[in-house]
Amino acid sequence: MQGEGGNIAREMRIDGDEIALRRRFLALGDTDVELLRRLHEVLPADGHGFTGAFYDMLRTYPPLAGLLRDDATVTRLKAAHERYFRELTAGRYDAAYVARRLEVGLTHARIGLEPKWYIGAFRAYLSAMMHTVWDRFDGRREDVLPTLDALLKIALFDLGLTLDTYFHADKRRIALRDRAIESSVNGIFIADAQQGDYPLIYVNPAFERALGARTGAVVGQPCICRNHGDDGYAEIRHAIASGSEGTTVLELHREDAERRWVELFLAPVRNEADAITHYVGVLNDVTRRKDAEERLNHLASHDPLTGLPNRMLFHDRLRHAIARRNHGALAVLFLDLDRFKLVNDGYGHDVGDALLREVAARLSSCLRAEDTVARLGGDEFVVLIEDLPGAEFAATVAGKIAARLAEPVVIGGRTLPVSSSVGIALHPRDGSDPQTLLKNADTAMYRAKEAGRGGFCFYAGEMNAQAHRRLDLENGLRRALAEGQLEVHYQPQVSLADGRVSGVEALVRWRHPRDGMIGPAEFIPIAEETGLIVPLGEHVLRTACKQLADWDRRGLVVPRLAVNLSARQFRQPDLADRVCRILDEIGLSSSRLELEITESTVMRDADDSVETLRRLRARGISVAIDDFGTGYSSLSQLKRLPIDTLKIDRSFIEGIPGSAEDVAIVGAIAAMARSLGLKLVAEGVEHPAQRDFLRTVECEEAQGWLFGRPLPADVFVCNHASGRAVSPADGGAVASCA
Ligand SMILES: [Mg+2]
Repeated sequence: MQGEGGNIAREMRIDGDEIALRRRFLALGDTDVELLRRLHEVLPADGHGFTGAFYDMLRTYPPLAGLLRDDATVTRLKAAHERYFRELTAGRYDAAYVARRLEVGLTHARIGLEPKWYIGAFRAYLSAMMHTVWDRFDGRREDVLPTLDALLKIALFDLGLTLDTYFHADKRRIALRDRAIESSVNGIFIADAQQGDYPLIYVNPAFERALGARTGAVVGQPCICRNHGDDGYAEIRHAIASGSEGTTVLELHREDAERRWVELFLAPVRNEADAITHYVGVLNDVTRRKDAEERLNHLASHDPLTGLPNRMLFHDRLRHAIARRNHGALAVLFLDLDRFKLVNDGYGHDVGDALLREVAARLSSCLRAEDTVARLGGDEFVVLIEDLPGAEFAATVAGKIAARLAEPVVIGGRTLPVSSSVGIALHPRDGSDPQTLLKNADTAMYRAKEAGRGGFCFYAGEMNAQAHRRLDLENGLRRALAEGQLEVHYQPQVSLADGRVSGVEALVRWRHPRDGMIGPAEFIPIAEETGLIVPLGEHVLRTACKQLADWDRRGLVVPRLAVNLSARQFRQPDLADRVCRILDEIGLSSSRLELEITESTVMRDADDSVETLRRLRARGISVAIDDFGTGYSSLSQLKRLPIDTLKIDRSFIEGIPGSAEDVAIVGAIAAMARSLGLKLVAEGVEHPAQRDFLRTVECEEAQGWLFGRPLPADVFVCNHASGRAVSPADGGAVASCA
């Protein structure tokens, strides 16, 4: 077999054996072949004009009538037709014959000539042949019937081959479509629309590549058109809801985290009843386009020198921040460098540019990720702080910026002195729109420049004193720790049964070199916010432990030391280790130490707290709940806590015995402590009547001015040694020891 026909025969697996098999099915034997050959010899070359009748019939069908209007074409087609049918009776039904038949069939299938035209032509042919055969054999039954039978067999043999070429053409078309889809550079998928999350039932290799998925890994998974909730999906959701086509651009979530953007086209596939059974989707990788767009957007919205947002983007962010502001204030900080012009003029623009880049980097390092810093141009920068915890926070940031920018900058071996001035405007008090806020922050910046103090200024003047005081305290507190300005004072805790000192509470005091004594209420919150509380707390713990060891050596009886623990210290994962290390260092038994933790700290994360408390007590350290009664903890919560002592908050002690309410509360707390087996200590006891009442509710210990104020160690010793720690008024004791 040769040519296309031969290839087709091989593709269709019609070889010599198959031909023989088909002939056997039709009982097309040598006798038939002989009969057909004999008929062939007497057939006129023009095929008896049956083609003429057939073409006349074809021309009555509208779609063909148009095609067969031209007589020359019809003549050519008729000749081909007659050649085709003449070959039927030629008597050579070998592989070459079959190959020629298949080639004709495939060509007709390809041009869209349907099998019904074949069947019609064969009928016309057979009908014409019947007359010829009848006439040839003068109607002799024994000659006519076998010849007609042979004609029928070869006609059916041919029709069989033809119909097979149509099936084969279909298969070829489907195979081609499959190969085309498999080789497409676009990701293609089909999802089952009749199941909830539209599982993927087919994906091509490009789809798997786009998702970075292994072969076969995503089939059966929910369709990517279903599992996104973000806004980019609005159109796809709408398309699915309305049964129409949709398109969107989305970022793929790949396992390897590589960023990939695709355009997704989604179209419904309907069945014969017009119901949507599937969705077909095409993904087009638009990562490069998207990257280019982002680069353009970035260029349009950022300062090329520093990479910071530019004025336009800053305005945009500020406008949005104002619009969505639901809690917390906003602050706009306007900043420029002092004497920047001198740098540019003196060292040239390259140095000036390098300085601006350094300033940009330093500014960014002072801010939270959610804050915005932008360069407006020249040496002007602006900062947007959202969700301000309080106005002081803006001052803290401004102070941080001023301190960071005050560090010398070295560029090209030259040290440049840098300083800046910052103006702060707060929304809504200093303006409700971007323009006003920026203008007022700018005005405040000029005031800061004039004042030359601290480097920053609020637009609202009255806020400056407050903010500076806080900043002073914050900076001062760092020095205080380093320079030993923090002192520990000791307040006795006494047994209400016999008046003996049962322990002391260590309390921190700040002796400021300029402002004198600063109370803990003012500086502890700052220490908490800045994290300084951790070194501060350890300093107090170490100092107090040393003091107790010293008293031990001097034979002074102070059975127990109570030290306050801040929330931050309490959350340290290695708290118990840290405390024990200090005790070991000093050589003090853990049984002498009681840590006081406020009720609110313990209750904030009760499960973790229980664990921490357990670890402390496992080391032999006792635990007291401080300020008890202010944190609203329930009896059931309290029962779970591994603790030793409750310290009733001073606010309840104040009202007893006059306030019936306070009397009832203290009585209830005392009963609760008793039932839980906890020791009870009353704080803030100042009058004998309070002490007497506490005795009636069986409160074991008390602390307050009635028994002794917090005192420096030496004064405390003096009082305690002279047995005056329990005296009603100890003011005189201080004098006598001084
Ligand atoms: Mg306390």
